[in-house]
Amino acid sequence: MNPLRSLILAAAGNEVIRQVVSATPGSRDLVRRFVAGETGDDAVAAVRELAASGLHATLDHLGEDVHGRAHAEKNVQANLRMLDRLHSEGLSGRVEVSVKLSSLGLRLGEKLALDNAWRVCAAAEQCATTVTLDMEDHTTTDATLRVLAELRHTWPSTGGVLQAYLRRTEDDAAALAAEGARVRLCKGAYAEPVNVAFDHAHAVDRSYVRCANTLLAGRGYPMFATHDPRLVEIVGERARWYGREPGSYEFQMLYGIRPEEQLRLATNGETVRIYVPYGDQWYGYLMRRLAERPANTAFFLRALASRS
Ligand SMILES: Cc1cc2nc3c(=O)[nH]c(=O)nc-3n(C[C@H](O)[C@H](O)[C@H](O)COP(=O)(O)OP(=O)(O)OC[C@H]3O[C@@H](n4cnc5c(N)ncnc54)[C@H](O)[C@@H]3O)c2cc1C
Repeated sequence: MNPLRSLILAAAGNEVIRQVVSATPGSRDLVRRFVAGETGDDAVAAVRELAASGLHATLDHLGEDVHGRAHAEKNVQANLRMLDRLHSEGLSGRVEVSVKLSSLGLRLGEKLALDNAWRVCAAAEQCATTVTLDMEDHTTTDATLRVLAELRHTWPSTGGVLQAYLRRTEDDAAALAAEGARVRLCKGAYAEPVNVAFDHAHAVDRSYVRCANTLLAGRGYPMFATHDPRLVEIVGERARWYGREPGSYEFQMLYGIRPEEQLRLATNGETVRIYVPYGDQWYGYLMRRLAERPANTAFFLRALASRS
């Protein structure tokens, strides 16, 4: 992995650096590029605008490391409020929610995270929409897939995420494709050791294509989350080869990244869903976005230099 990328991802877990970056004046501008805003109102305004342009969305109430059950409960409540709101404002046909099990208490116990996710899925069903469980670092993969399997017994439309950089993912893709699951395929955004993850970009891309083929050949609903122009083209070509109609799979991109491409795909008849984060716990999310693109990292280095 690029050493700068590793450095930034390591900084994502460092409290001192979090305080420095959060207090740096340019941070807010950068956050605005990737995050819809801090409030539910900001989030609803963003997804309304996307829906008006023919796009779909998945809303992520930001927050990962919870420090106690009360904190996890606050995150559950935020998701329940948002689901109600999407329903009452007529947006639930186009907008679902994404949740990180760590924000629902996974590090405090798998049972707590399952119970909390259960409540979010039950509310999503009431509000005529769905939930996707984001995937976090590899130490949580097994637990996340176990919780997903439990939730899918009752709500088969609950989505999961697989990361092409993990060596295990081809097997996981085959299993979920055979079950007919809704699966988001992404490259993967965390710093992972080489014994569990491919280290080179080409190896990750090749894994992405192999997993895409598996998902497209299967019975499920694949969701291709990537901004990589080559992968978007290959996935489109493979979808046609497998006889997949638009609407039997979708593309996904992040809020603020390649917006023209998002619209181009939608105009061409593809289903395109935008991942829209909101809330004040934006630090970890911002660090992962900075790490993905060398051009973004100049900001991060300036922030550190200004405080040293
Ligand atoms: C909808 C969605 C949901 C996701 N969910 C998860 C998840 O649950 N778990 C997880 O680990 N990861 C998740 N990711 C992140 C993903 O794993 C990658 O880290 C991220 O998408 C970058 O990979 P890429 O496929 O876009 O390819 P890259 O090769 O990283 O990027 C391709 C091109 O896209 C543009 N680009 C990509 N990232 C940026 C950026 N940050 N700023 C500006 N331009 C950029 C650039 O033009 C770049 O050349 C998600 C991504 C998306 C799109």
